[in-house]
Amino acid sequence: MELSRMSWAKARDGLKNTTVALLPVGSTEQHGPHLPLGTDHLTAAEVARRAGERGGWLILPTVPVGVSEHHRQFWGTLWVEPEVLREYMVGIARSLGSHGVRRMVFVNGHGGNTAALDEAARILRHEDLFGYVFSWWRAIPDLIAQEIETQGSHAGEMETSAVLAFAPGLVASECYSEAVAGAAPEWGKRLHGVEIGFDTLDFSQSGATGDPTRATADKGDRLLDAAAGRLDAFCHWLASEPEESLRPRPHVR
Ligand SMILES: [Zn+2]
Repeated sequence: MELSRMSWAKARDGLKNTTVALLPVGSTEQHGPHLPLGTDHLTAAEVARRAGERGGWLILPTVPVGVSEHHRQFWGTLWVEPEVLREYMVGIARSLGSHGVRRMVFVNGHGGNTAALDEAARILRHEDLFGYVFSWWRAIPDLIAQEIETQGSHAGEMETSAVLAFAPGLVASECYSEAVAGAAPEWGKRLHGVEIGFDTLDFSQSGATGDPTRATADKGDRLLDAAAGRLDAFCHWLASEPEESLRPRPHVR
């Protein structure tokens, strides 16, 4: 059930029967020379789509640009300020709430968005609008440890596997060697326990981390399915929870 494909007449009936909506949000940012700029928002939309197939949840239009300024030296990267993303999410949730749907999940595909999404969820809760942040890769750490052999959360084995699973034509495997040659072993750069990598370019010349040559579509498929399964389970919980227990607690006595 995708909102953007419905007429208002269809939405009138559909929204009355909707308790939980999924809002995919990601980024448009460099993902090495081998993955598309849309990797994060395309992956978020794919996880939401798979969860929606399981549980029949309402899928909202994907938010494609997020907090990505740290990739700015790589061509094509777009970004907005964190507070812009936060207010944009709050605005979407308020407008959805005006139609009677007050429970939603931000299906997130980009780590840099997390702080802004957390803030949005906190603001909304004071208005009896209930948003929750689901960052797909954080929901399946055990499976990732089992399936993914190399470190590198950004444009490495994990994300490349994910894109191979749903859009193999967008993966430029002939650029793997260029990606690996300039890659950082993992995200960030630390010195004496202090993070000194502000921009991706401070630690990765290709924009990638880890080793995308180990990626396969089968691995990606298993990760995406497992993430969708957890998201679907969360939505079932959210749909059935009494509103009283979602609200902030009153003062202690
Ligand atoms: Zn990514």
